[in-house]
Amino acid sequence: MLNIKTFYFNPFQECTTLLWDETGEGVVVDPGCYNAKEEEELRKYISLKKIKLVAIWLTHAHPDHIFGVAGILDEAEIPVLVHPLEEPEAAFELARKVGLREPRADFETVDIHEGDTVKFGNTRFTVIETPGHTPGGVCYYDKADNLLITGDTLFAGSIGRTDLRGGDYDHLIVSIMNKLMGLPGETEIIPGHGETSDIGWERTHNPFLQPWGEPWEENETTL
Ligand SMILES: [Zn+2]
Ligand SMILES: [Zn+2]
Repeated sequence: MLNIKTFYFNPFQECTTLLWDETGEGVVVDPGCYNAKEEEELRKYISLKKIKLVAIWLTHAHPDHIFGVAGILDEAEIPVLVHPLEEPEAAFELARKVGLREPRADFETVDIHEGDTVKFGNTRFTVIETPGHTPGGVCYYDKADNLLITGDTLFAGSIGRTDLRGGDYDHLIVSIMNKLMGLPGETEIIPGHGETSDIGWERTHNPFLQPWGEPWEENETTL
C-alpha cells in the first residue's frame, strides 16, 4: 500500500512529498526544506515511520524544489533523479532574484526520460516528460494507485508559470493536454504547490484547459 505525506516548506510553500509502501522503502519528491527546522521536521517524520529512503525524485530544479536535497545527501548516499534538461546549478540565479538563500546544488544527478520506470519497494511510477514550466519538467505517474505528482506543471485550478527562464506557454499547454488530460479522471494529482485535485475535475473546471470541455456528472441535464 502506498503512503503519502506532504510537507509545505520554504517561503514558497512548496509541497515536499514523501512516498513509501509496505516494504518500508520510500522516496522524497522535491525536498524543499529551507532551514534546519524544516530539515529536522522531515528527518523526524522519516525516522518515526522507519522509512528507508532510496532516492530523491525531482520534478524540476527550481530552488524551491531543491533546497533540501543537499541536507538529505549529507546523511544518505542516494540517487537524485532529474531530467537532463534541468539545471540545478543554475537555481541560485532564481533564488537570488527572489531574495532567497542560494541552494546547495553541487550534487550528482541521475538522468530520467519519458517512459522510464522508477521504483521503491513494490511501487512503480512512470516518468512523463511535461516541458513548459521548465524545459526538463516531469510528472511521476503511478497507474496502480491512480496517483500523479505534477510538480509545477499542473495545479488545482491552475497551471505553472511560464515567464521564468526556459518557460514556454505553448509547450506547457501541449504537455498537459497530450500527456496528462487523457489519464483516468479519478487520477489524484499532487501538485508542487497548493491543494490536491484529480484529473477529472481539472478537465472540466481548470480555466486554463477549457477546450477539453467534457461534460461531467453535474452537467448531465440534457439527453
Ligand atoms: Zn517551478
Ligand atoms: Zn515551485
